[in-house]
Amino acid sequence: MSSQLQTKWPATRAEGLRRLDAFAPKMGAVYKAQRNYDLGPENRGGVSVLSPYLRRRLITEEEAVAAALSRHSFAAAEKFVQEVFWRTYWKGWLEMRPQVWREYRVGVERDRARADRYGDLGAALVAAEQGETGIDCFDAWARELAETGYLHNHARMWFASIWIFTLDLPWRLGADFFLRRLLDGDAASNTLSWRWVAGLHTKGKNYAARASNIKKYTEGRFDPGYALTPNPSPLVEDGPALSPTPLRSPEPLDPSQPSVLLLTEEDCSAENIDAFPALDWRAIGVLPLANERSQAAVSAKVADFDRGALTDAADRWSAEPKWIEPTPEALVAWVEGSGARQIVTPFTPVGWVRDWLDRARSDLAEAGVVLAEQQRRWDRTSWPYATAGYFKFKTRIPSLIGKLL
Ligand SMILES: Cc1cc2nc3c(=O)[nH]c(=O)nc-3n(C[C@H](O)[C@H](O)[C@H](O)COP(=O)(O)OP(=O)(O)OC[C@H]3O[C@@H](n4cnc5c(N)ncnc54)[C@H](O)[C@@H]3O)c2cc1C
Repeated sequence: MSSQLQTKWPATRAEGLRRLDAFAPKMGAVYKAQRNYDLGPENRGGVSVLSPYLRRRLITEEEAVAAALSRHSFAAAEKFVQEVFWRTYWKGWLEMRPQVWREYRVGVERDRARADRYGDLGAALVAAEQGETGIDCFDAWARELAETGYLHNHARMWFASIWIFTLDLPWRLGADFFLRRLLDGDAASNTLSWRWVAGLHTKGKNYAARASNIKKYTEGRFDPGYALTPNPSPLVEDGPALSPTPLRSPEPLDPSQPSVLLLTEEDCSAENIDAFPALDWRAIGVLPLANERSQAAVSAKVADFDRGALTDAADRWSAEPKWIEPTPEALVAWVEGSGARQIVTPFTPVGWVRDWLDRARSDLAEAGVVLAEQQRRWDRTSWPYATAGYFKFKTRIPSLIGKLL
């Protein structure tokens, strides 16, 4: 497998496209054979390392799937395509169950307060976050995450499983720890993957990390032997109802209104959103919200990547962008100062950006400003199918591709 140094992540669309192009030849048989191997941060040749770019739509899911299918048959690239659609599935699933995100946000603060109050829990949490538990693989992944902002998918699964079932730490604090450090941190993929490992997504089915599996898929870099809890039971929680609610219809934009374009980390390629009509643009603003991921400190690497991605996104529009201080008052003042009545922004899915915009809604309404969102066809077409489990959703992929590409 080829070596790629994974400590440098230029936050640009050009870099996302470069990585996409470089990995495209491997999206078939190579990915299928190698994707489960975590050979360390210097050796990521078996996976695409596209997630920080896809998460912010510096490159899109559509571009990733199209790249795979331009080089390989569907049968050969099926694994890669399915992984990209996992992202789409998680986004749609959470969109129809915003209560799961709300419960996570409240629950994580409750868990943090408990860790502050009880010394043993607090100390165990610090040891886990700093990679000082004495479980070598886990400690190495905690350090790798801090140093690089990335972990291989298999390492994320093992790490989450050890966090929950061996270290007996609250799953939400683990999800929060990931969000504060992952360059690709995403409300849907992260929260729901942690819930899946814990056994809360598919009721009664959890993911148990096993030493033999870790040894095999790290090619012997790690062997935790008997350190892991064997055959743990899934967590049981009184959680929110999981039945799907209708998808939110975004406020439609009015093409006759003078408008400002608002860019957030949710979509850093607004210029290629399908069906974006020509508008009377008055200004472009960027709203940096990396620190909204958590009430605890977010890593500087994440904030830097966000700033880079937003700078790059704005550079693709000709006007000089305004960096908006993240307060509703500053947002309203900017819109009013630009002489616009309408903010247009790419659709904001469930997550911290949407939470922030929801909090600003009353200030915007009071000032008579409409917040209109432009949704991508990819999401509009795929999300309605995320009503049940992924395996049902997966059967729709060929027909979705037929409609979307
Ligand atoms: C506990 C846990 C937490 C996670 N948190 C996040 C997160 O915050 N953000 C995030 O983008 N992914 C998350 N994932 C999913 C997955 O681990 C990463 O998307 C993947 O490792 C990114 O590396 P890559 O780009 O090399 O992936 P590749 O294997 O090359 O896959 C290509 C793309 O498909 C998507 N993808 C692949 N696997 C998954 C998956 N299981 N779920 C959703 N999308 C997937 C990603 O967008 C990825 O870039 C998490 C998984 C676990 C188990």
